[in-house]
Amino acid sequence: RRLASTITLPINNLVKTSRDISLTGKYELRTKKISNDEVGELADTFNEMLDLVEKRDDELRLSAITFNTQEAIIITDSHKNVIKINPAYTQITGFQLSDVESHKPSFFDSNYHDADVYQQIKASLAQQGYWAGEITDKHRDGRVYPGNYMITAVRNDADVITHYVVTFTDISERIAAEEKIRDLAFYDPLTHLPNRRLLMDCLSSALKSSIRTKQFGALVFLDLDKFKLLNDSKGHGYGDLLLTEVAKRLLRTVRDEDLVSRLGGDEFVVMLEGLGTDLTIATDYVHTIGHKLVMELNQTYILENHSHNSSASVGIALFNGDDSDVESVFLQADTAMYSAKKSGRNTMCIFDMSMQDVIEQKIQNEKELHHAIALKQFELHYQVIVDSEGNSIGAEALLRWIHPSKGMLLPDDFIPLAEELGVIKQVGDWTLNAACQQLKLWQEIDYAQHLVLTINISALEFQQHGFVDNLLAVVHSYKINPEKLKIELTETVILHDIDFAIEQITQLKVAGITVAMDDFGTGYSSLNYLSQLPISFVKIDHSFIARMTDSVQDTSIITMIISLGKMLNMTIIAEGIENKQQYDALKVMRCDCYQGHFFSMPIGIRDFEILVKSKYSI
Ligand code: C2E
Ligand code: MG
Ligand code: MG
Repeated sequence: RRLASTITLPINNLVKTSRDISLTGKYELRTKKISNDEVGELADTFNEMLDLVEKRDDELRLSAITFNTQEAIIITDSHKNVIKINPAYTQITGFQLSDVESHKPSFFDSNYHDADVYQQIKASLAQQGYWAGEITDKHRDGRVYPGNYMITAVRNDADVITHYVVTFTDISERIAAEEKIRDLAFYDPLTHLPNRRLLMDCLSSALKSSIRTKQFGALVFLDLDKFKLLNDSKGHGYGDLLLTEVAKRLLRTVRDEDLVSRLGGDEFVVMLEGLGTDLTIATDYVHTIGHKLVMELNQTYILENHSHNSSASVGIALFNGDDSDVESVFLQADTAMYSAKKSGRNTMCIFDMSMQDVIEQKIQNEKELHHAIALKQFELHYQVIVDSEGNSIGAEALLRWIHPSKGMLLPDDFIPLAEELGVIKQVGDWTLNAACQQLKLWQEIDYAQHLVLTINISALEFQQHGFVDNLLAVVHSYKINPEKLKIELTETVILHDIDFAIEQITQLKVAGITVAMDDFGTGYSSLNYLSQLPISFVKIDHSFIARMTDSVQDTSIITMIISLGKMLNMTIIAEGIENKQQYDALKVMRCDCYQGHFFSMPIGIRDFEILVKSKYSI
């Protein structure tokens, strides 16, 4: 009646009479001798049967669909031997029915798992009738995959297990995604080392466990010397190669149980635990490790077929959990590291309590410098530069921090800190703007129109991308003559990456800004590359001037610098002239320009303008 397809029913068993009855056009029941009531009864029975058949058909169709899902399904007999699998099983595992039929699947195998996992599966099936969990299995090709499994025991009416139905999905992708998220949160993507967050967590646990065990641990801070210069000049790709190599070296230098992590940039941290309960022994041990690390990182690197030399400064803080917290151990190791940097880099230093004052002072200085930048607590002082007739030709602008309580601070007191805190650009921008503003004012004043103003540029500023564009934009915004601005660079800046330096200086020169090399002669290879640089001025370092009257050697170096400069069409400035004797001697050597206390100290703008206005002359 309602079935669309052919179906065989045991109609004859139902037949009670000899009369013909017709239930539908399709199904004819041949019956004999049947009463009217019986016809109705039979029709009802038959209808019920059809309903049952229809229901069973739906169920079969549904179970066929279910069996065809993405989830792998295995049906085993009560002895756990496979009797049926679905296509998804073959897809996930690579096995056909012929491979596994009548065999026990591996997850039922006590030899396959850790004993406790197998026991759990067995117990759960016996008690609850199912087990669910994640286990790994092997693909036909031998690769291992993680699966999310559900095993159900099927019981008959007599409560006896007749089958097991196992369903599972391959969760490799999910696990990979989870691992990726975990990696991003806790590992450094470049070196795959634990990151700051994971290190902090581990240090926190290490501190707790050292309270229990009374054993010392140590935090070893490593900072690559002058890495920023390499990164800024050779590009980040090159810097990344070095960092990756450093990570490898650290891993192979320390024990497996030590934690090697990367804080970011060129800073790495190694955490050591279980160094024993004796402070002297622990200190000796970290001393050896620190030294080993310095030596290892000092070996020549081969990056993109070029050899590269690098070094690191290492600072170590020991802890034993008693009264240390994560932040203070960090700060102590960091302080020791800066102390290592101060004592000449490529060295190590272990924190001791005498450095505590340094920590407190440093925190205070950092705070104050940020304030100084925000509140513009700076001033330029001007030191006159004269020619051989003693006429003022310009000035060097020297930065001063007018500290609210400490008074006037000199650049050496705060420029290195500004570089370290990454705020040198803000400081440099202030200086550049102040110098341009001054030049703009001088443009309008008769006695000052001729003055060339020189500013000093920090190595880190010069190496920053966009340095030249930024400088030119500021100069143009003040509408000043670019030829009145001169910048001074130190040799080390230029030496680090000579091609980059040539490119930058050429751009400045094209825009009309002249470049001077400051402190010339202090870098040992200076004479070799001088001819390659498009610079216009060379400033002989004041240390030569200071010694010239006593040292024949220094006098001959000065003579040589002057004659070399002249050959290369460069103007020579001698700085640090403190007396007439030095001035006279330099004049004889045909030096071009002169600067030093003998002419004037660096002074404030009012005094400087008075000095220039009085037609300063010796
Ligand atoms: P520098 O460029 O070599 O500047 C010359 C330094 O020598 C100045 O020290 C100056 O005061 C000092 N000086 C001048 N004449 C004499 C002298 O006759 N005898 C002696 N013994 N010293 C003399 P200052 O002002 O302390 O500056 C130190 C350094 O700080 C500068 O060396 C320069 O490299 C840097 N600096 C100054 N201003 C700035 C700035 O605005 N930005 C950056 N990045 N660095 C700056
Ligand atoms: Mg200078
Ligand atoms: Mg100098």
